[in-house]
Amino acid sequence: MTWVVRGARLLGAEPTDLLLRDGRVQEIGTGLDAAGAQVVDADGLVALPGLVDLHTHLREPGREDAETVETGTRAAALGGFTAVHAMANTEPVADTAGVVEQVWRLGREAGHVDVRPVGAVTAGLRGERLAELGAMADSAAQVRVFSDDGRCVADAMLMRRALEYVKAFNGVIAQHAQDPRLTEDAQMNEGELAGRLGLRGWPSVAEEAIVARDVLLAAHVRSHVHVCHVSTQGSVEIIRVAKQRGFPVTAEVTPHHLLLTEDLAASYDPRFKVNPPLRTADDVAALREGLADGTIDAVATDHAPHPAEDKECEWDAAAFGMLGLETALSVVQATMVDTGLLDWAGVAERLSAAPARIGRCDTGDRAQGRPLAQGEPANLVLVDPSASGTVDARELASLSRNTPYDGRALPGRVVATFLRGRPTVLDGKLA
Ligand SMILES: [Zn+2]
Repeated sequence: MTWVVRGARLLGAEPTDLLLRDGRVQEIGTGLDAAGAQVVDADGLVALPGLVDLHTHLREPGREDAETVETGTRAAALGGFTAVHAMANTEPVADTAGVVEQVWRLGREAGHVDVRPVGAVTAGLRGERLAELGAMADSAAQVRVFSDDGRCVADAMLMRRALEYVKAFNGVIAQHAQDPRLTEDAQMNEGELAGRLGLRGWPSVAEEAIVARDVLLAAHVRSHVHVCHVSTQGSVEIIRVAKQRGFPVTAEVTPHHLLLTEDLAASYDPRFKVNPPLRTADDVAALREGLADGTIDAVATDHAPHPAEDKECEWDAAAFGMLGLETALSVVQATMVDTGLLDWAGVAERLSAAPARIGRCDTGDRAQGRPLAQGEPANLVLVDPSASGTVDARELASLSRNTPYDGRALPGRVVATFLRGRPTVLDGKLA
């Protein structure tokens, strides 16, 4: 299969052609052609390396009423992703070699993106004893990222042991930083608005206390901790200081925390209920600044599908979480590119190269997050930054409908996605 991508702006630079053959970028230049090649007209489109998501809930096995590996990875490809890391809070929990291999195999069969299973840190996500980390690392799924996401590894000794254990195979512990005692029954960001709405508050310190503890633990045992979905100004400041001191820490922010604020909770619409909660405009500004200056390494979607019955109910009873895969790049364009905080090269670093490095999938035959250069794997996305559209929840490929952006205008459109030289999306539709 040979493709010529004609006139694409590589990372936003001047138009050029790319020749994709045998799964690789064979040549970059002007006036490229090859016998029998299929052509994509990329006039006006920006070419980025295929996006890599560090934080996706695919819900299979166990909650196929919310999402399956098939539907979730279709949504990923349509969003410009070529790899996703599938979180471990499935039913059963991905805490054994058997379950992570099942998810990995389902991803291979679907074929839309590379699915990299995340393993649980503790058995059953119960926070009592370590899961079979070594067996998951040695399995066919070759797990390198471990997380109890959805829950925090609250026990400091367990967190220390997990960090020490994964050093043997260059693993990383991705922490969902939430002190459980400080957030019992918490419903939204703690503050004046929560008081007025009569919803139990979720204080910033519940996140920041765990982030502070974990960066110190990581430094102490010299092992890599990754902070999931940073949501507060204080967390950004702690991570900034930790990095200045050379601590082995990386961090991600979600698109929704870059755009939305707690004010949306005033509608009592559970589409805006998420963990960690939407915060204040000051937090949003600090997150954008942290992403721009590299304190926060990556954008990760925390795509969290829920069926209607878990979201279309009273706020208190509703599940936490939002869809994210199909809108992530548009939200990043709106918040970071169109505001002048990042250029397209910066977007490529934060949505492709950095998450691939953190996920340990930037080397080998199926390497992700590599630069768009001759000889590299032909993983790329073509985006039309001048397009604009209104999000329609009914049109999403995800099995669930819980997007916070329904009816909202967002810039940019994913036109095509290539996975190792094969189009998974063309003309904005599954190929
Ligand atoms: Zn989480």
